[in-house]
Amino acid sequence: MPRNPTQPSFRTYVSRQYTPAAPPFRSENADLILRTPDSSEFCVHKDTLLYASSLPEKIHQLAEVATREFATTSYEPGLDWRKRPIAYVREDKETLDLLLRLVYQPGTVAPPQDVKRAFIVFKAACKYGFDEARRAAKRWIARSAETDPIHVYATANKHQMPEEAELAARASLGHDIEQLCSDRSAGDLSFSAFNSLRAYKASCVNDALTLVKDLTWMGEVARLQNWKPCFLTCSDIACREPSRWSRWFLEYLSIIKNALREDPRARTMDHMDVTGKAFAQARGCYNCRLHAANDLRKFNNILSRKLREIVDQRPFEANEFSHAQHNHY
Ligand SMILES: [Zn+2]
Repeated sequence: MPRNPTQPSFRTYVSRQYTPAAPPFRSENADLILRTPDSSEFCVHKDTLLYASSLPEKIHQLAEVATREFATTSYEPGLDWRKRPIAYVREDKETLDLLLRLVYQPGTVAPPQDVKRAFIVFKAACKYGFDEARRAAKRWIARSAETDPIHVYATANKHQMPEEAELAARASLGHDIEQLCSDRSAGDLSFSAFNSLRAYKASCVNDALTLVKDLTWMGEVARLQNWKPCFLTCSDIACREPSRWSRWFLEYLSIIKNALREDPRARTMDHMDVTGKAFAQARGCYNCRLHAANDLRKFNNILSRKLREIVDQRPFEANEFSHAQHNHY
């Protein structure tokens, strides 16, 4: 059969040298060969892939397409010397290795260094219906979001994954966004995506500070719980003027405000030190010294619950996605 000179030569493609993948993907009793564009060869078991996949037709296709495509050429039959079908996949060696390990040895696979790889594995897991692998890649992304939110955010935007973008946006609340964006990963981030993050943090900080500035809601909680915090009931006029908070408590509030400006999430209150400077002042008051630690802890818990409701649950406006859609019309 004469070859069309404009088509890439199958001979060059199939006669390329393929390097065997690392174990366990060299198994002699494997019944399907997967070859990557970067010249690696993985020997896998079709049944194992079928068992792990919720899209079995995708797995059947791998073998079928391989055989069909190559059967039409006179060069290679699409089978190796043991008559095992060879499928040419689009995933590169590193992605396929991680993906197959998640299928073969779930629970033992270390996350990739670069979170971008986790996204690529996630996409590949979706494509082949490897649900367990997809969930694992999602967990990798979620874990990276906390330490590397900008990178995760930028990549989630690129892959149009609003859930991960929101997760990363939430995690970014614990960071100095300007500082983060001047890092290497900011190159991936569009100006409007960066602005969405900045605006999100500003709104969350504002919500958190509003809660602390006007504590009338706390009065209602205290009444319902029959809680009489010392910083609101102390009778020592040097500690607290009538109908005001104790001075040491006001100092504590200003410390909280600063901390919430850095990270407006509930976790800030969970980690708040109640034995710091303000607490040392409280010990100067005969009435407050016994109750201050308990009352502060209780105050932290209540404020933390409120922040969880108002800030941690605050939806992230993913402007980036709506902009991307508008551009198409
Ligand atoms: Zn007092």
